[in-house]
Amino acid sequence: MKASQFLISTLKEAPADAEVISHQLMTRAGMIKKLGAGIYTYMPMGLRVIQKVEAIVREEMNRAGAIECLMPMVQPGELWRETGRFDKMGPELLRIKDRHERDFVLQPTSEEAVTDIARQEFKSYKQLPRNLYQIQTKFRDERRPRFGLMRGREFIMKDAYSFDRDEASARQSYQKMAAAYRAIFDRFGLTYRAVAADSGSIGGDMSEEFQVIAATGEDAIVYSTGSCYAANMEKAESAPPKGPRPPAAQPMTPTPTPGKATCADVAELLKLPLQRTVKSLVLATDELDSAGEIARTRIWLLLLRGDHDMNEVKVGKVPGLADFRFASLAEILEHFGAEPGYLGPIGLKKPVTVVADREVAVMADWVCGANKKDFHITGVNWGRDLPEPDIVADLRNAVAGDPSPDGQGQLAIERGIEIGHIFYLGTKYSAAMNATFLDEDGKPKPFQMGCYGIGITRLSAAAIEQNHDARGIIWPDAIAPFTVVICPVGMDRSEAVRQAAESLHAELLAAGVDVILDDRGERPGVMFADWELIGVPHRVTIGERGLKEGQVEYQHRRDETAAKVPADGIAAFVK
Ligand code: ATP
Ligand code: MG
Ligand code: MG
Ligand code: MG
Repeated sequence: MKASQFLISTLKEAPADAEVISHQLMTRAGMIKKLGAGIYTYMPMGLRVIQKVEAIVREEMNRAGAIECLMPMVQPGELWRETGRFDKMGPELLRIKDRHERDFVLQPTSEEAVTDIARQEFKSYKQLPRNLYQIQTKFRDERRPRFGLMRGREFIMKDAYSFDRDEASARQSYQKMAAAYRAIFDRFGLTYRAVAADSGSIGGDMSEEFQVIAATGEDAIVYSTGSCYAANMEKAESAPPKGPRPPAAQPMTPTPTPGKATCADVAELLKLPLQRTVKSLVLATDELDSAGEIARTRIWLLLLRGDHDMNEVKVGKVPGLADFRFASLAEILEHFGAEPGYLGPIGLKKPVTVVADREVAVMADWVCGANKKDFHITGVNWGRDLPEPDIVADLRNAVAGDPSPDGQGQLAIERGIEIGHIFYLGTKYSAAMNATFLDEDGKPKPFQMGCYGIGITRLSAAAIEQNHDARGIIWPDAIAPFTVVICPVGMDRSEAVRQAAESLHAELLAAGVDVILDDRGERPGVMFADWELIGVPHRVTIGERGLKEGQVEYQHRRDETAAKVPADGIAAFVK
């Protein structure tokens, strides 16, 4: 590739809305261009990275026996009604209508479409197990698209779905994917952890997230310093460590006496076991009069920080809540574009103290919850001036330093970026869609399914979070847009330089190296700054003076200075 024929558009400044380094650098390096909120064009330089990520994922998926297909981006609403998700899924699911007023969705994931294939194609147990995957654009109307490719609304995901005849076999398919995921993430050269995640309504232990460790990660994960125990916060909390805990980590012990504070803050409230999943918690708070009758009811909306699991969030997963005060439910719905949830923290019967609001004075002894007997929370205290909740800080108090649940080592907490998620689904989708095969006994049985996602575009961004310096990106070789850049100095003046640069370029190309020749005629300072920002790992600089001594300069992107190397050995050196 020659730079003069490519599209290189670097920027000195990052856009004002770019909060994290990967967003800043991808924009400045001309890899992505914003078209709308959470919607980006993958520019030629960025697309090369994305395609390399895809190639690695594809190779390992194929190696693991998965079969590639491509399901439509636009899917019929009818299909999504079969599982109920057309209505159940929140506003993250983008619904559109065609000219005949028929409903469609933009796929946020593809369980319905793939199950529809399976029920038509896999008729017999003899055709099982099978794993179908695609690398395809997804759309999720995220409430807060941000951080560039990290949380886009349109993004690329690899999603795979396994079909098995029974649970034992499904377990094997799951383990195969878990191994493939490790192989994939090892190849990117990133520091990551596989952490146990909540497996939702299915239960069991078959859900893991793959988290790239980064300070800017939106997820908090907890791990043991002495063993391989690692989990995301939700899972960590549901498996409280055994043994003595420091006072700050005391599990909530509610005191039913009115007027006594019983619980530290909303984080504590959220740790109480709830009996169903919600995306936000709407509390109706009742003010009782002296006779114990409800004098006034106010509606409170507690929003979960971040979106999780396609809007099906177990309250308790995220310890930080933001809360808002509104006069009416209608106002809340309008403000957040939310849909009516259910009222009250169903299943919460214990007295708690909620210290959560900045706008109201401390009020003691409220009763809140649903307007239903036994579903009230009594002894609630509303406080003020709670600092912006910090997930990691909250949980550091709760679990860091505690003994690991497996008894080996202590718990520690760090932030991560969820780049992959594997999940045993059981028969959730196959049963709903009547997707069955004929088993050996001649009886129809629903498929045992698993689903396995990797955020292709998110991974490109996550790689930058771990690999950058003040000058720009430092790509791992495996996913660099170009692995080698040739920077000729004074190419337009020196025929020797031109020839040497052209011939090295040709030789590396012939050897299959992803090389780019910077023939734009820019000054060395400009060239170097561009390529350091873009993050090409290997740079060869060719100048007239060096050539006379039979030398060129080589610099790895991580090196501070260039080293002189013999011109005739350079091709072999960077190949
Ligand atoms: P998150 O918790 O970050 O919202 P998720 O749990 O909703 O992600 P999954 O449904 O598990 O995501 O999808 C599989 C993978 O797709 C995720 O592990 C992540 O890498 C990627 N992904 C999900 N949402 C986005 C997004 N908005 N932008 C980019 N990648 C995403
Ligand atoms: Mg998630
Ligand atoms: Mg999500
Ligand atoms: Mg997930």
